[in-house]
Amino acid sequence: MTEIATTAQDILTRLGVQPARYTDGTLESFSPVTGERIAALPEQKAAEVTQAIDRAAAAFREWRLVPAPRRGELVRLLGEELRAAKDDLGRLVSIEAGKSPSEGAGEVQEMIDICDFAVGLSRQLYGLTIATERPGHRMMETWHPLGVVGVISAFNFPVAVWSWNAALALVCGNPVVWKPSEKTPLTALACQAILERAAARFGDVPDGLSQVIIGGRETGEAMVDDPRVALVSATGSTRMGRQVGPKVAGRFGRAILELGGNNAGIVCPSADLDMALRAIAFGAMGTAGQRCTTMRRLFVHESVYDQLVPGLIKAYGSVSVGNPLTTQALVGPLVDGQAFQAMQDAIAAATAAGGKVHGGTRVTEAGPEAAFYVKPALIEMPEQTGPVLEETFAPILYVMRYGDFDEVIAQHNAVGAGLSSSIFTTDLRESEMFLSAAGSDCGIANVNIGTSGAEIGGAFGGEKETGGGRESGSDAWKAYMRRATNTINYSRQLPLAQGVVFDI
Ligand code: NAD
Repeated sequence: MTEIATTAQDILTRLGVQPARYTDGTLESFSPVTGERIAALPEQKAAEVTQAIDRAAAAFREWRLVPAPRRGELVRLLGEELRAAKDDLGRLVSIEAGKSPSEGAGEVQEMIDICDFAVGLSRQLYGLTIATERPGHRMMETWHPLGVVGVISAFNFPVAVWSWNAALALVCGNPVVWKPSEKTPLTALACQAILERAAARFGDVPDGLSQVIIGGRETGEAMVDDPRVALVSATGSTRMGRQVGPKVAGRFGRAILELGGNNAGIVCPSADLDMALRAIAFGAMGTAGQRCTTMRRLFVHESVYDQLVPGLIKAYGSVSVGNPLTTQALVGPLVDGQAFQAMQDAIAAATAAGGKVHGGTRVTEAGPEAAFYVKPALIEMPEQTGPVLEETFAPILYVMRYGDFDEVIAQHNAVGAGLSSSIFTTDLRESEMFLSAAGSDCGIANVNIGTSGAEIGGAFGGEKETGGGRESGSDAWKAYMRRATNTINYSRQLPLAQGVVFDI
């Protein structure tokens, strides 16, 4: 067994995952760090998915009756167990998703943060008292557990996305069935083991409250098609969302869709250019361009273009690319050869459309043949066209000049996706315009910070082809509950609303 596979298996053993879950199966797991095979997992076929949902549906009948603050106690314990397992789980994220140690640990910190948030929430699932037009009546709304929550997640945030959903779903009274990305199944087994530790300390957790089903698209489809899954929370490409969304809608299920982004930054004449450069560098090159919120388009005002862009090109040329486990490199590997090919195809299309390419070549000395390390690409484009309009899940930043503010806002919004956006300016009018109804059309709009690196306190998600879903903070919890409006008559009369008379 290779060193990296041994390290992964040591971590899984420490966390209590049984070897039978990741040896002798048909789903092979590879580390992007070296391209080596690190495990082979048994897959769950449609019949086993149905059985998992059977167990989850039974768990729901019990868990919905547990008082919400008590449900919060399970999530508090999960947060404690995550704190204890932070180094191991963060390292496993680095091994399986290729993130730097700092980003791997950061992802686990995000899980801890959402647990803290959800614990507080467990005492704040508030409804309203509403004024009624009828005398001797009271009207209110109450929030009840919804049912089985199915989570489908992408490879690039292999653990945080589950925790955003699971922490909220559990305090809201729902069981969770999780279909992680087929590219990152080991981190999912690790999360389930960590949750089971919390459950053992909690005591009376119903069987099947949290489950992981391993497999590819068909496994996910079996979950999406099951009418007992009340909410499907699906994170991944817009292509996946186009398949999942209509199916869930067709059976009147509820969906949270967290899909692709084509996020842009605008650098205005008054911007602090040093700060903008650092924010753009992290936003566009961090996580090797494999965040849904990665900055992919940059509009620079013509008056500051020649001050900013040469510095950015220099930063692209000097950024360190290498093995995230053995070096301090800022940019790690692409997830696989397909991602590399997609990047090369986009670069070729941009060149054909008149783009001037800086970087984008393979860095062969960073890893073995089966691993895909690249220099991030900055491409100066004459206009927003061709590949600029689409998300390519790799580190490519398309840079364009602009002259007119209204025109650049129109350009900014003229793509299918609507996830994240940012403006760099010290001009109050520009900043407020960008955040206004006539400004950025994205779910996330920032000023003087990059497009990525959201905190858990805000609702996370985007508009248009990003799917419209919201997860994590603010009132995102409402998607995991069913709302009931209750009207109570404590009088001896029966007045009808709107003055309707029906005397019998
Ligand atoms: P992907 O779409 O290939 O796969 C995502 C998940 O969907 C996987 O678990 C996969 O097995 C499953 N899946 C695919 N087709 C399915 C179907 N028809 N039915 C049920 N399940 C199906 O995405 P990926 O390559 O793993 O991740 C990268 C993409 O995810 C990018 O587009 C990125 O922007 C997006 N993403 C979005 C967010 C967000 O919050 N908006 C967060 C992370 C990643």
